[in-house]
Amino acid sequence: MTTNANEPGATIQCARCGRQAPRQATAAYPGKLGEELISRICADCWAEWQQMEVIVINELQLNFMDPRAQDVLVQQMREFLGLDPAAAE
Ligand SMILES: [Zn+2]
Repeated sequence: MTTNANEPGATIQCARCGRQAPRQATAAYPGKLGEELISRICADCWAEWQQMEVIVINELQLNFMDPRAQDVLVQQMREFLGLDPAAAE
């Protein structure tokens, strides 16, 4: 991969909205998932997910004392953002 996606203000081809759009300023998740999100999902779509995330957590009554809750949330996020669910390790 030869992108400058780590530069502030760089744009990415967003996997969700299909636009060439500004990338997120900071990775929301550590590791590969964070990198994938930052290189594939634009700042606007991420902001939409952050609003949706609150609704999803409430609707599914996710309890983060349960480690599986994080997995459920990540799957919901991938679906919302149009990312391949199988890509997660
Ligand atoms: Zn987007």
